Amino acid sequence: AGTLYIVPTPIGNLGDLSPRAQETLANVAAIAAEDTRHSRKLLQQFAINNEVFALHEHNERERAQAVIERLQGGDSLALISDAGTPLISDPGYVLVQQCREQGIRVVALPGPCAITTALSGAGLPTDRFTFEGFLPAKPQQRRKTLSELVAEPRTMVFYESPHRILATLSDLEEVLGAERKLVLARELTKQFETYLSGSIAEVAAQVNADSNQQRGEFVLMLAGAPVTEQAGDTQAALRTVTLLREHMP
Ligand code: SAM
Repeated sequence: AGTLYIVPTPIGNLGDLSPRAQETLANVAAIAAEDTRHSRKLLQQFAINNEVFALHEHNERERAQAVIERLQGGDSLALISDAGTPLISDPGYVLVQQCREQGIRVVALPGPCAITTALSGAGLPTDRFTFEGFLPAKPQQRRKTLSELVAEPRTMVFYESPHRILATLSDLEEVLGAERKLVLARELTKQFETYLSGSIAEVAAQVNADSNQQRGEFVLMLAGAPVTEQAGDTQAALRTVTLLREHMP
C-alpha cells in the first residue's frame, strides 16, 4: 500500500516550503488539496505539476474511502491545506483517522504553522499552552466560551479572522477585564508582520485606532490567569492537611 504524507505549506512566505516538502509533493502520485486552484498556483511556483484533487471540509467524509482505496492500491498521496499544517483548524482529521484504523502508513512532515510561529515570537510563557482554534462566530457563544477560560492558567492561543477581530477584542475586555496581557500577531511571515503586545485594553485601543491593524490574518494569544498567592496558599494548606491526615493514627 502507499503512504499518506501530511505536508505543511507556507503561511505567507514561499521560502518556508521545506526541501523535504517539495520533494514529497513532487514524488507522490497525487495531492489532495483544500482548494485545488489555490494549491495549483503554489505548486506551479515549485514546478510541481502532479495531479491535484479536492479534499475539503464539505467532501472529506465521502471522499475518504476513495482516497483510502487508492492508497491501498499502491499510490502514495499527499495532503495539503490552503496554508500551514493540515488538520490544524483545517481538514484532514477524518482521513488520517481512517488511514490509522485501516493500517495505512501516515507520515506527517513538520513545517509552517501559525500557532507555533506566533507563540515562539510573542514573549508569553510557552511551557504550557492551550490552542482554542476559532472562537464561536455568535457573540453570545463567544462570550460564553471566553467566560469558561477566565481561570485558565496556561497561555491561550486563538485563531481570528479580520471580520471579527474588533468584536473579539471588545468581548475579551468585557469578559476577562482590561488588564490581562494580550499579544496579537498579524500577517506572520508576510510583508506586514506585526506583533501588538500589552494589556487587552491597550491592544484593543491600538487596533481600533488603526484600520491597517484590522486587516489580514491574526493569532491572538492571551496570558493565562495568574495563579494568585492566595490560591497558592490555599493549595499549600490543603497539601499540609492531606499530609497530616496520612500521618495521623
Ligand atoms: N492550518 C493553518 C496553520 O497551520 O496555522 C491554519 C488554518 S486556519 C483555517 C487559518 C487561520 O490561521 C487564520 O484565520 C489565522 O488565524 C491563522 N493564520 C494563518 N496564517 C497566518 C499568518 N500568516 N499570520 C497570522 N495568522 C495566520
